[in-house]
Amino acid sequence: MPAPAPLPPALFAAVARHWGFSSLRPIQEQAIRASLAGRDSLVVMPTGGGKSLCFQAPAVVRGGLTVVISPLIALMKDQVDNLTRIGVPAARLDSTLNAAERASTAEGIRNGTTRLVFTSPERLVNTDVFRMLQNAGANTIAVDEAHCVSHWGHDFRPEYRQLARLREFFPGAAVHAYTATATEQVRRDIAQQLGLKQPEILVGNFDRPNLIFRVLPRLDLQTQVREVLNRHAGDAGIVYCLRRKDVDEMTTALKAAGYRALPYHAGMDNESRRATQEAFAAEEADIVVATVAFGMGIDRSNVRFVVHAAMPKTIEHYQQETGRAGRDGLQSECVLLHSGADFVSLKAIIEKSAEEAQTAAEYVTASIKHLDEMARYCRGAVCRHKALVQHFGQTYDAPNCGACDLCLGDTQEVPDGVTVAKKILSCVARVKESFGIAHVIDVLRGADTATIRARGHHELSTHGLLKSVPKADLRDWVYQLIGQDVLVQSGDEYPLLKLNPASWAVMNGKQMVRLIQLARREKRGSSAASA
Ligand code: ADP
Repeated sequence: MPAPAPLPPALFAAVARHWGFSSLRPIQEQAIRASLAGRDSLVVMPTGGGKSLCFQAPAVVRGGLTVVISPLIALMKDQVDNLTRIGVPAARLDSTLNAAERASTAEGIRNGTTRLVFTSPERLVNTDVFRMLQNAGANTIAVDEAHCVSHWGHDFRPEYRQLARLREFFPGAAVHAYTATATEQVRRDIAQQLGLKQPEILVGNFDRPNLIFRVLPRLDLQTQVREVLNRHAGDAGIVYCLRRKDVDEMTTALKAAGYRALPYHAGMDNESRRATQEAFAAEEADIVVATVAFGMGIDRSNVRFVVHAAMPKTIEHYQQETGRAGRDGLQSECVLLHSGADFVSLKAIIEKSAEEAQTAAEYVTASIKHLDEMARYCRGAVCRHKALVQHFGQTYDAPNCGACDLCLGDTQEVPDGVTVAKKILSCVARVKESFGIAHVIDVLRGADTATIRARGHHELSTHGLLKSVPKADLRDWVYQLIGQDVLVQSGDEYPLLKLNPASWAVMNGKQMVRLIQLARREKRGSSAASA
């Protein structure tokens, strides 16, 4: 294959002059090349990967007008303010502009000085904005947060569906989509919805080697959160909570204990939210306790820790939220505290909001599937870096990442875990893959239940094979096997345990698995009592 044409020197000069960067990241180079060549593209990069430069820099050197579609006014404002500060003529068209601002924006677009104009999908499609942009000869459309177009994504926005009309409005323009969500299904959906023409598909590296991931069962939330805070005394960090009420309670508790913490959630008025954001950016507060509402546009590169007080609802959210740590490349820690109760709460939240918004059933199904993937990540006992990278469709070869609880040896392996795994899998085989977790555990523990008697399962060779193991541990291990893809849980209402070829490989000694002994509340309680 011939070497790709080098980027024009003017591009590097502009990047150095305006942004002060001396080089481009490899994927930025490819994305910018596609953009300058006027070729459609789909660029997938993790949060912090540097997506914005991919459409901002070409807009500066190309001439003509680039339209950027963005889902949130705050995001648009952030980018336009930054661009203006570094001397790139940019403007936004959103509902917050007054008449004078609107007129001056329109003038900049008309006379060709404005290089980038930011707007929302609904504004573009439903007002005469598209006509103004057509008349100005917009030649490039950049769709930011493009996963919002897909039902299968983690942040579907119905207004993004209207972008299917982009082609109609701007038949001659190149269309570029940018997202941090990379699952195959979402990618296909983006390309199809936006009518991308033979797009250059570029996927950046999702691994963040400077982040240390720890995933722990939630035993005593306050103590566990403070353990992290104390490891990072005086550092910047974010504590994500599930609900607004959790944020308020956590903030109050942390403040009372002397931490410089501030809350952030969508139930607060704009003023208070801005105050938190600014205090954090100005390093006047160390810790922001927040719901998922806090994130887009956080401009602090030295966030040293991110704690999740509960499981997020998708791996994409988790990746984005943890991605806010260590943007300066220095080592940072991400701790996720989870419990089975999180799944139940999140499922209820999804179902309730779907009912209120009368969302399509397929959206609920997709959301619950995302939740399931997240739970598997928590319980799976697979190297955290590996599991994340694989989720985003990439391979991870290193046998030990050296940067997660499992690879750092924080966790205790179950002695002779492979034998234990074989016992669990053969029990699933013995009950003919026709029962759920609870029953398989009962059989392994030698229980004498009505179902066991009725089915004659007390006569199986696996009955009582793991008699002395507590139920909770066995449950953890079953989930760990599922997380390692050597056991399958299928069916919605009454999920059954099934085997797959990997199960047999484990039973035949051809494949390794590991089981982790998780800390349990009782043990922690007793050690605390004796301390
Ligand atoms: P994303 O939109 O993908 O989350 P951003 O565009 O906000 O990422 O960029 C993330 C960070 O990386 C920013 O702090 C930005 O200044 C920095 N950055 C982007 N490109 C480069 C580069 N080529 N060299 C150095 N820093 C960069």
